[in-house]
Amino acid sequence: MVFGEYKKELMDAAHNERIRLALSRAIKSYRSNTNTALKKFPHTIKLAEEVLEIKAKAIAEMEKLVQQVSQAIEENKGKAYIARTAKDALEIIDGLVGTGKLIVKGKSMTGEEIGLREHLEEKGNEVYETDLGEFIIQKLHSRPMHILSPSIHVPKEDVAKLFSEITGKELPPDDISKLVATARELLRDKFFKADIGISGANVVAAETGTLFMIENEGNIRLATGAPPVHIALIGMEKLVPTLSDAFKVAEVTWRYANYTVPSYVSLVSGPSKTGDIEKVTTYGAHGPKELHVIFLDAGRTELAKHPVLRQALYCLRCGGCLYECPVFAVTAGYFGDKLFGGLGAVWAAMVTKDRQKAAAMAYTCLTCGRCKVRCPMKIDVPTMCVELRRLLVEGA
Ligand code: SF4
Ligand code: SF4
Repeated sequence: MVFGEYKKELMDAAHNERIRLALSRAIKSYRSNTNTALKKFPHTIKLAEEVLEIKAKAIAEMEKLVQQVSQAIEENKGKAYIARTAKDALEIIDGLVGTGKLIVKGKSMTGEEIGLREHLEEKGNEVYETDLGEFIIQKLHSRPMHILSPSIHVPKEDVAKLFSEITGKELPPDDISKLVATARELLRDKFFKADIGISGANVVAAETGTLFMIENEGNIRLATGAPPVHIALIGMEKLVPTLSDAFKVAEVTWRYANYTVPSYVSLVSGPSKTGDIEKVTTYGAHGPKELHVIFLDAGRTELAKHPVLRQALYCLRCGGCLYECPVFAVTAGYFGDKLFGGLGAVWAAMVTKDRQKAAAMAYTCLTCGRCKVRCPMKIDVPTMCVELRRLLVEGA
């Protein structure tokens, strides 16, 4: 995308009253929920310091961890794959999915990074986003505008209009529970009819091959539990050495994502199995018979070598920084690409390799540092953006 187009999108967003309305509601609620959560569990702040050490060490040994986790998953009778590029990941997934399948999908920024849903649809599959926000985005033919709340820029009035069009029934915007119930109704049978469920993961324990998936809606539980095949696509930066490390990362992630405690944390280490009949281990009881886990590199191991920009890999995707960013507050994810804000600029430069987008975003960042203050990993976005500008000017 050329700079002029990006600037126009950004300016249009900044003058869009509906975006401003939706974001001001979300920011208010995020701040109050997070303050309550941190007040109730004050140990989280110290725990975040410990998690930063865990992440820094894990990023330095990502290659070792990906080998270790692959072995663990295979020992658990799952299949593990290492995709060095986005194209490799799509090819692996094509080999597993084929065509003509019904797929239910949980929210995944890594899936977004490689254009997974669009790709699967092009291959002749029917794909349903099952996270409510993603479902809204899919039906609006829009794109996510926040890491955790992809439809953050869509006010309830627009959701009511969309769902009224889909169902042919008049739905009032003020009855949010009715809107949620409508999505539940529309998606309910898809979970049980689906051939494949696709998810990401928030953190993965290398020693046991355990994927942690944090959520509130229950869609991930269903999407990864009901279909006969579960495919997980996960960025290599999500790996940490031990189960105990992963629990710590998970707690800090959800607390800064404004949950006192989330409704669900699913831990998946292998396909469903039982030994209840004569102690004979048999795979495929009530859950999926197959588990396929794809770890995506796509520039992450290179990024890990950069002394300043490597911090981008510490990100827990809690989304907290975005609620503090003055540019995001008026433009939503238009100040973004696959990831948002100043961190998104680093991602565009080093992972998805869109230098034009990276440059535009790096210069949109005000380098004010408000995001760093909120960030549990103390990611220094202003310094990263200044370094990125230098690299882009030098053409490095
Ligand atoms: S430093 Fe950049 S990304 Fe961070 S809050 Fe300021 S403008 Fe937003
Ligand atoms: S940069 Fe920090 S605050 Fe922002 S999503 Fe990542 S971990 Fe959370």
